[in-house]
This record gives sequence, C-alpha cells and structure tokens, in this order.
Amino acid sequence: MLSQSHTRTDLSWTDTSPRPRGLGWRLSCALFGHRVSNVAFAANPGPVKHCPCGERLLDMHAETRVSHTVSCFLLGHRYVRIAVRDGHHEYVCTQCGHPLLFRMDSDPYADQSTFKKKVRYLCNLFGHRVHPVVSRQGFHEYACDCGHSFLKEDSGRSVVKHPLVCLFAGHYLRFTERRGSYDEYLCRNCGHTFYFVVTE
Ligand SMILES: [Zn+2]
Ligand SMILES: [Zn+2]
Ligand SMILES: [Zn+2]
Ligand SMILES: [Zn+2]
Repeated sequence: MLSQSHTRTDLSWTDTSPRPRGLGWRLSCALFGHRVSNVAFAANPGPVKHCPCGERLLDMHAETRVSHTVSCFLLGHRYVRIAVRDGHHEYVCTQCGHPLLFRMDSDPYADQSTFKKKVRYLCNLFGHRVHPVVSRQGFHEYACDCGHSFLKEDSGRSVVKHPLVCLFAGHYLRFTERRGSYDEYLCRNCGHTFYFVVTE
C-alpha cells in the first residue's frame, strides 16, 4: 500500500539533524514527499523547519508535500490532548501531527492523557460519517465519531472519504493558522489537518 522504501528509515529515524543525507533521501522525498516529525522539529528549534533531505519545510507561504509516517501507519498514532474547543477534545499525534477531535460528551479517551490508536477500518473503507464542528478560516470543520476531522469548503456534508491521491502521493499542506503552541496545516486534496510544533 505504502512505499516499502520508507519503512527502513522511518522506523529508525532518531538522528534529527537537518543536514542533507545524499541522493537516497532526496530521491525518496521527490517520489513520496518530505518527512515530517514533531519529535525532530522539537529537537531542532529555530524559525525554519527542515526535512532530513535538507529541504526547507512548512513555509507559511508555500505548499509542502509530505509523505506518510510509516511508523504511525503500521503501529498506530500516539496522541496527547492539546485543546478543548467547540465542544470537543482535540488531540494530536506526537510524531506525525495527525489530529483527533472527539465530542466532549462521547470521548472514549476523556480520562486518558495519552493513548495509542489505529485508524478505524470501516471508516477507511466507506468514508467517515461526520458531524459539523465549527466554521473557521473560510472552511467548515467536521469530525467523525472515530475522531478524524476535516476542513472542507462545502457546508452540510455528512460523509467524507479519503481520496486515493493522498494515499499514493502524500498530503499537500498549506498553513491555515497558529493555535496555541502548534501551527495548523491543511491538505488541499483530503481536507485533513496536521499540527506541527511551533519552534521559533
Ligand atoms: Zn525531504
Ligand atoms: Zn502519527
Ligand atoms: Zn471515521
Ligand atoms: Zn491529503
């Protein structure tokens, strides 16, 4: 499903230096998108974020194509709560920045400060059955009971599916807004948002 060539490096990516790593990294990033890691970003504070290939990432005025974080895909995301907003608890993956939004009155993780979670299989197959959360930044935000959230241009949606292009090509991210100690980015194809730690 995802590129095998990512597995080896993603699972063992502990050296967080932004120095260029040669042709292998650059080729991988050109094919699958750049690597994002909140762990690596936090370890390398500064106004500019870098991919291990050396490329500058997540410029607020440009689009960044990012690959899937295979360790999260295979082992599940590890979440911490970052906010209570719009009647929801909001969580973010400490590695890849993937968020979750649960209604406060039906949050299965309400009494846990950190937890691991895999994607709900039926939602991947048939799409997420979503409810409206809030309107912001010219978008309508939705969340599924599984926790997946989306920012979409159209109102009144009840189902959101993941487009295949993101599975194969990664996500194309643009900055939306700074919230607390995180910068939020939005994928133009799937409507997923990602949170990356503010490091400046
Ligand atoms: Zn890269
Ligand atoms: Zn993750
Ligand atoms: Zn869902
Ligand atoms: Zn996407």
